Amino acid sequence: MNNPYAWLKSSLNSIHKANWYRSCKTINSMPDSEIELMGKKVINFASNDYLGIAGDERLAQAAITAIKEFGTGSTGSRLLSGHRQLHGDLEKAIAQLKQTEDALVFSSGYLANLGTISALVGQKDLILADEYNHSSLKNGAKLSGATVLNYTHNHIEDLQAKLQQLRNQYRRCLIVTDSVFSMDGNICKLPELVELAKVFQCMLLVDEAHATGVMGKNGAGCVEYFGLTGEEIIQIGTLSKALGSLGGYVAGSEVLIDFLRNRASTWIYTTGLSPADTAAALEAIKIVKDEPQRREWLWDNVNLLKTSLKQELSGLNLLPTQSQIICLGLENPSSALSLADKLHKAGIFAPAIRPPTVPTSRIRFSVMATHKHSQIRFLLDILHQE
Ligand SMILES: *Cc1c(COP(=O)(O)O)cnc(C)c1O
Repeated sequence: MNNPYAWLKSSLNSIHKANWYRSCKTINSMPDSEIELMGKKVINFASNDYLGIAGDERLAQAAITAIKEFGTGSTGSRLLSGHRQLHGDLEKAIAQLKQTEDALVFSSGYLANLGTISALVGQKDLILADEYNHSSLKNGAKLSGATVLNYTHNHIEDLQAKLQQLRNQYRRCLIVTDSVFSMDGNICKLPELVELAKVFQCMLLVDEAHATGVMGKNGAGCVEYFGLTGEEIIQIGTLSKALGSLGGYVAGSEVLIDFLRNRASTWIYTTGLSPADTAAALEAIKIVKDEPQRREWLWDNVNLLKTSLKQELSGLNLLPTQSQIICLGLENPSSALSLADKLHKAGIFAPAIRPPTVPTSRIRFSVMATHKHSQIRFLLDILHQE
């Protein structure tokens, strides 16, 4: 008799052989630009805490106060016993940051994408998706049952051709894209997408996970960065990156949010966000508003790293980027792993990103507002030695 679980081991073996195997690494310190990783102090270029606030005392205090007042769990789904005033306050703050009529908070950004996409389209509908979209957008599209077609990454003409060919064969159409591409660092062509959506009567959903808090003058994201505030765009994002907490959100029109409260199954059938996470995110949005200097520090650091890589290390394969995510392309998974390993030995934490997450291997550096110039200089010096 064959063991029905035997395939697990052989599948894992294949993952190992391809150099695709991954495991967790323990961090033993507060989130910061320098951390203790597996017992070693390293400069942290692997964090999504772009504004450097996940370890901020104010977020911690807000979370503690919320726990003392409302407990650790929210005890039910939002429509049953899980709704608190804090959730409403956070949703108001998100809508205000994004300048939308309303917003809805999910337990994670992943769930926000699954629930929103699957609520908005179904079997009679078409999804056109950038091929580099985040896993949550891809799986949301699958879950919806709509026909899903990928267009070539950031290729407006390809999208347009597909719309011309296919749009009128479907009832509704949803265009879906990351705004800042999470594993590349470049940004979508939002003005062109908004235009195409209008011409072809499509809904447009942008995932601002890596843009919220950092892009745009007020940190509202790429929609603000492109001057498209007020356009009817479905804006999704996370509370877990620049906002230093946990959870996700959708921001948009009042009718969209009201509809999602009635139809998004990953919101209806899951427990409301915990009081601590909710309060921490609310405090984070206050910091995004009150401390614009954090965005200045961030872009100053990004410029330093990008310019120096171009000027001093032109032999390296710097991938195109317009954000705080900066990647060096490498030949294959094993060369990416080996560089990540060398960097770690030298005191730098920057992960190798490999298939199947991305089509080609790379090292990914996330810049934070709280990196010191000397820490970025140290990274450059190490790369010089490679
Ligand atoms: C991280 C990420 C998500 C998921 O957000 P979580 O809140 O961590 O679940 C969704 N989309 C993109 C583009 C992301 O990078």
